[in-house]
Amino acid sequence: MKSPIQQYLDALHEELHGLTDGTPYQGIPSTAVADPSKFGICLATVDGVLYEAGDTDELFSIQSISKPFTYALALEDLGSEAVGQKIDVEPSGDAFNEISLQSGTGRPDNPMINAGAIAATSLVKSRGPRSRFGRIQDFYSSFAGRDLDMSSSVFSGERDTGYRNRALAQLLRSFGIIEENPDPVVEDYFRQCSIMVNARDLALMAATLANGGIHPSENHRVVSPETVQQVLSVMTTCGMYDDAGAWTTSVGLPAKSGVGGGIIAVLPGQVGIAVYSPPLDPHGSSVRGVAACTRLASDMGLHFMRSG
Ligand code: GLN
Repeated sequence: MKSPIQQYLDALHEELHGLTDGTPYQGIPSTAVADPSKFGICLATVDGVLYEAGDTDELFSIQSISKPFTYALALEDLGSEAVGQKIDVEPSGDAFNEISLQSGTGRPDNPMINAGAIAATSLVKSRGPRSRFGRIQDFYSSFAGRDLDMSSSVFSGERDTGYRNRALAQLLRSFGIIEENPDPVVEDYFRQCSIMVNARDLALMAATLANGGIHPSENHRVVSPETVQQVLSVMTTCGMYDDAGAWTTSVGLPAKSGVGGGIIAVLPGQVGIAVYSPPLDPHGSSVRGVAACTRLASDMGLHFMRSG
């Protein structure tokens, strides 16, 4: 006998599968050929219960959903004051790849757009035998509760097409926001975007944030509550780029999307949500992902401003 939540999720999945708008991201070779019919939804509660519907085993590249997690690592390493000197927390309302750096200082507006995300990657340093990317990969893996791998073919596609990201890294170096050779930094940013996850991994990563930084089933602490608060705040105001205002009014959950077709949303203290479906809307967010989060928020009363 299926639980009422499972029955609801199966029905929602079936209904939204009929939504065929949008196109997989054409900017990198791996996502351009993604199967548009793939669609998975996963909810992970803070007690470690999983509810899944559809293609929740399908692996895809994490892309920009990496950004809040690398930002979290920079915050854990350096504290919010030092990180704040390099990356602001202001919503820019810009598209994800906008060449937007604050005039005068060159400080990126926030860590969710590429400029701020590349700056955040530069703030993570190698430690002992672990390289910067090794540390990033370990960190994401502890959020997911399993070892996550990078796809070399996604990575080489990112490298072959990443002219704008390389330009952003050079600009950040010219302003002294990045204080080292920007080329290896942007390579590590490409690597972090090429980490492969499925919807279940992302739901558990989101649930770790919902659970104040403790993995819901492994029970290990991944990050401090202070870091979680900062990351979720920035996801609320900036996670959906130039759609952040509309998202906050309609869904009302901190969230992050990626051009791989993934999307996460977090209800603090309750649940992490992840959806995978490659066709994207004009903001670069999954069409079925946005629809599923909107429906879940309204049907289950998840909006964080809901008072009755
Ligand atoms: N790798 C992509 C980029 O940097 C990620 C963008 C995204 O997911 N929005 O352009």
